[in-house]
Amino acid sequence: MANSYKSTDQTQLTEHFNVSEFKCKCGKNHDTILNPDLPEKLEKLYKALNCSKIIINSGYRCQSHDKAVGGSGTGHHVYGNAVDIVCYDQSGNKISSKKVSCIAQDIGFGGIANIDSTYTATHVDVRTSNYWKGDETVTTAYSVTDDFYKYYNLTKTDNSSEKKSKSITVTFDGITYTGTVTEK
Ligand SMILES: [Zn+2]
Ligand SMILES: [Zn+2]
Repeated sequence: MANSYKSTDQTQLTEHFNVSEFKCKCGKNHDTILNPDLPEKLEKLYKALNCSKIIINSGYRCQSHDKAVGGSGTGHHVYGNAVDIVCYDQSGNKISSKKVSCIAQDIGFGGIANIDSTYTATHVDVRTSNYWKGDETVTTAYSVTDDFYKYYNLTKTDNSSEKKSKSITVTFDGITYTGTVTEK
C-alpha cells in the first residue's frame, strides 16, 4: 500500500530520508506517491554500506514525467516503489553500483540494476513479484543474473573486510601500557 503526501510535505520518514527527496521532478506540484517499504529499505542500505549520503536522482514519477525521461509510464517509479540513487562513502567517494547491487540484494529489494556506464548509479525498487536483477549496460529487458555476487565476482568478505581492532590498556606497577589488538 502506497502513501500519498502533499508536494510541500517535509516529513522525515527515517533517520536519513525525507519525503521531499522522493518528489517527482516534472515541476508540477502534485502529490508524491510512496511505498513506505522504500525508505525503510533505503535506510538499511545506507547503514549496511556505511554511507555519508545517498542522493536520490529520481524517486516518484507521475506518468507524464516517467515518459518524458524515457520510461513506459507504467514502471515502478510511477507507483512510488523505486528510486535511482548514488551512494557515497565516508570519504565522499561514490560507491560502486556493483557493491550497491550486492548489498541491495542482501536487504531484499525486489528490483535492482546498475543504470550507468561508470557503475555509480543504481536503480532499486520494492516490487514484490517479477523480480529483476539487472545491468542496464547490458539490457533493460531482463535479469542478467540471479546472484549479483556471482555476476560481479564479489565475495561477501569484500564487503566486510575491515578487521575488528580493539585497544587494550594494562596498568602494571603504576605504568600504563596501551596496545591495539587486531582480529585475524
Ligand atoms: Zn510529475
Ligand atoms: Zn529507476
